[in-house]
Amino acid sequence: MQSITLLGATGSIGVSTLDVVARHPDRYRIYALTAHTRVAELAVQCEQFRPAFAVVATAAAAEELAALLKKKGVPTEVAYGEQALCDVTSASECTTVMAAIVGAAGLRPTLAAARAGKKVLLANKEALVMSGALFMDAVAASGSTLLPIDSEHNAIFQCLPLGYQRTPQAHGIRKILLTASGGPFLDRDVTTLDEVTPEQAVAHPNWSMGRKISVDSATMMNKGLEVIEAHWLFGAQPEQIEVVIHPQSVIHSMVSYADGSVLAQLGNPDMRTPIAHALAYPDRIDSGVDPIDLARIAQLNFREPDYLRFPCLKLAFDALHVGGSAPAVLNAANEIAVEAFLNRRIGFRKISQVIEQVLNRLPNTPVNDLDSLLLQDQLARSEAHELLV
Ligand code: NAD
Ligand code: MG
Repeated sequence: MQSITLLGATGSIGVSTLDVVARHPDRYRIYALTAHTRVAELAVQCEQFRPAFAVVATAAAAEELAALLKKKGVPTEVAYGEQALCDVTSASECTTVMAAIVGAAGLRPTLAAARAGKKVLLANKEALVMSGALFMDAVAASGSTLLPIDSEHNAIFQCLPLGYQRTPQAHGIRKILLTASGGPFLDRDVTTLDEVTPEQAVAHPNWSMGRKISVDSATMMNKGLEVIEAHWLFGAQPEQIEVVIHPQSVIHSMVSYADGSVLAQLGNPDMRTPIAHALAYPDRIDSGVDPIDLARIAQLNFREPDYLRFPCLKLAFDALHVGGSAPAVLNAANEIAVEAFLNRRIGFRKISQVIEQVLNRLPNTPVNDLDSLLLQDQLARSEAHELLV
């Protein structure tokens, strides 16, 4: 029986995770659920899954949640703040942590899970992009099992040989082919991109996701973050990672081998597939997702990404090449710029401009520990805010 701490329970990944968990009460129980501010939704989840703990962001939210749970007669203990998040991910009663908080806010609790040797199911790509070597070292030192939830990385994981050891050459791997839908603006006239609204940007053609990752998909920063994520997860160098635009989102990614074989994982665009895969690995369980209907899909198309349309993708590749603090700075500046776009403070094309300017303004430095990493994250956020006024 796995005992799960679900970070970000009220989000898109969180809700999909609970959907899979509810199908297999014999295999999984929930130890802790966490959310930022959506207290009413969290209370309903606590009523259904009866976790030992629920964690929210603030004292006020905790008070509100405790009152709701008392009314419902749910005995879940309520806590709040970042330390409480770290406590529920490292507790001995917890075997498995689903890291599904969005953005840098998930770094500390996810790292705490890795340090405590948990089975870590990683959706929160920003945490790995920021902390790279630090995170992978923590996984290696504790003997934690790290399984990717991001659909592309989960697909790659499924196409890699058993016992893969983060050395592509040693396993006869030529390239990792990371597929990308291209988002809602793949075919839009580039000169009109500054007119797009947040509503248009979050309307992804294939996937239903949280707002931040949806905007990242529209700029293709999401793919850029995923390139960096693939580098750390699979030990692939930037030139061994190729981004392929595949508008149907049926092939979730591929691995190209020295003998000419290319292995792919296909499926409907529904995150319950990678979630169920990682939860049950190495077993296979029902996820609630229908098999694909190839005759109905009929066609699979591919094309090269265009850096003029998607400058964020180029910025991410460059940040990976440069290394040091650049990926953390890229990520932090992106979080601020996306938030400003969602709040209608800046136009769509300004997102990449803000990120590029922040990267140019901050000198690159090595980030060998959490404190220096968080300092770079903060500096990048301040620089980005300055560029918005
Ligand atoms: P979402 O916005 O729907 O949910 C985010 C969750 O994090 C919510 O439960 C929210 O309460 C919590 N949260 C937000 N800010 C927080 C903070 N400061 N402190 C604590 N908790 C906080 O996002 P999502 O789409 O579920 O994405 C979650 C993560 O999974 C992201 O890193 C995203 O890149 C990754 N991911 C998502 C999908 C998808 O299909 N949604 C696919 C691949 C990867
Ligand atoms: Mg993805």
